[in-house]
Amino acid sequence: MMTAPDREQYDVIIVGAGISGMYQLLKLRELGMSARVFEAGSDVGGTWYWNRYPGARFDSESYSYGYSFSEELLEEWEWSEHFSPQPETLRYCNYVADKFDLRRNMEFNSLIKSAHFNDDDNSWTIETEDGREATARFLITAIGVFAQPTMPDIPGIDEFKGEAYHTATWPHDPVDFTDKRVAVIGTGATGVQTIQEVAKTAGHLTVFQRSPNYCAPLLNAKITDEEQKKIKASYPEIFARCRESYAGFIHDSDPRRALRESPEEREKFYEQLYNEPGFGIWMGNFRDVLVDEEANATITEFMKRKIRKRVNDPAIAEKLTPKNHGFGTRRVPLEGGYYEVYNQDNVRLVDIRETPIERITNTGIDTSDASYDFDMIIYATGFNAVTGGFDRIDIRGAGGRTLKDKWAEGPRTYLGIQIEGFPNMFTLVGPHNAASFCNIPRCIEQNVEWVSDLMTYVKDKGYQRVAATLEAEEEWTEHVFLMAQRMLFSKTNSWFTGINSNLAGKDHRTVLLYAGGAPHYREKCDDVAAKGYAGFTLQ
Ligand code: NAP
Repeated sequence: MMTAPDREQYDVIIVGAGISGMYQLLKLRELGMSARVFEAGSDVGGTWYWNRYPGARFDSESYSYGYSFSEELLEEWEWSEHFSPQPETLRYCNYVADKFDLRRNMEFNSLIKSAHFNDDDNSWTIETEDGREATARFLITAIGVFAQPTMPDIPGIDEFKGEAYHTATWPHDPVDFTDKRVAVIGTGATGVQTIQEVAKTAGHLTVFQRSPNYCAPLLNAKITDEEQKKIKASYPEIFARCRESYAGFIHDSDPRRALRESPEEREKFYEQLYNEPGFGIWMGNFRDVLVDEEANATITEFMKRKIRKRVNDPAIAEKLTPKNHGFGTRRVPLEGGYYEVYNQDNVRLVDIRETPIERITNTGIDTSDASYDFDMIIYATGFNAVTGGFDRIDIRGAGGRTLKDKWAEGPRTYLGIQIEGFPNMFTLVGPHNAASFCNIPRCIEQNVEWVSDLMTYVKDKGYQRVAATLEAEEEWTEHVFLMAQRMLFSKTNSWFTGINSNLAGKDHRTVLLYAGGAPHYREKCDDVAAKGYAGFTLQ
């Protein structure tokens, strides 16, 4: 370990080289601050670096997802599909890193093990797994919401002798499914994308489903030359639209209420949304469907009918139909032929609520009524979402208090940007931040710019320490809970509500997201800044 005087010193340490870490670094350079990014992976991209599973792609319109800050970049970069596949998005991240020469301030293969606040000089010291240390005035976590994948809590998981992959740590070399007997566990947004792709070439595919979701058509297509021109010409309108919408998408809720429309009108609108690309059916639906159970039941019934229509075998259709939640109360997976996969001869669906998985064996998977042999098992079993990335770092704030301790009962934050007791630390896309329930880059840009302004303010005024007050944190946290209670999603189990059956203590619902909408969040942040950073103590 280095002695203190040998430690690298920066104005800012950024954890993570994904979409938010990259933009934060660029912004700090513009401000003349020295910064170092520490990234666990071997290159830039974050989510798009790790999640290389087959079929991974945007569920946001490509042109609504890229950075908006550089007109030159917008002019140069051409998305080839309306919903870009992961390899293209990773190429985009690399293009941005090259264009702005970002890598010279980045350290790769550098997983941060600890981050400790030093009360004596108001700085943060981090240590990487391989023992490197660095110190900075500010610490910025840019770790995204899915930094920590979770394997299922099933006995025998290490015994399997075939190929085994978690979707979020997918190998960099191509994986071949041809003629193989493949199992996929998990049917969230990731599982649904994976299943469709694997089913194309696998010898045989078995899907182990615990909870079905309501999946909606993505309707992806190549971007034609004419569309490309139109997109480039309309970037200002696209971003303006995203800026005003509830969750940063080009889709925003329809001002009408489902319950005030006739059944015919409703059906017509639902049919229209079902036949339009992207999240319109979720984010652009009647304004009451995500908040009112009766309204929600109308779209839920519509989606159930669609599943029955698309799946040939009524018994399989029944298994694929959710029973315990309404449409849109969990993340809606988008698909292109997902339901039709179950009409293929080489695909089998195992409902593990009926016949639970008992163990993984060296040759496959045993359920309560059968033993299945496989060449490959794919775990699409999700993440220790939002807070998991924080849990794996030993973060200690003022007086040595650990973040784990502070968040033992769930996260508490001020604006989802700072945590009381953890001065000079900012959490981009953190819990209770609008960016965690957003077309993420849109909200990332707001986060980065706001935090950069705050750091500039602190520096210009000659302060050394910015710390959220307990009162401000309590008020914000209460507001976050209030906003979530209005939404039907708060009554269901999913990562939105912090549920993860594979982790101890993640069995009771909490609130991880900010559900008040991105425009409201932005207004609140702007108001705080206008009031000289109300709710923060500056010293
Ligand atoms: P997820 O939504 O948490 O889904 C995990 C799946 O694994 C669920 O079906 C879950 O069943 C199942 N599972 C977990 N543990 C299990 C166990 N022990 N036994 C059997 N099944 C088990 O995770 P995800 O699909 O990776 O998606 C996470 C989020 O990533 C999404 O919600 C979305 O925000 C993001 N994502 C985005 C995109 C995109 O933008 N294109 C694509 C993919 C993912 P239960 O439901 O019963 O728990």
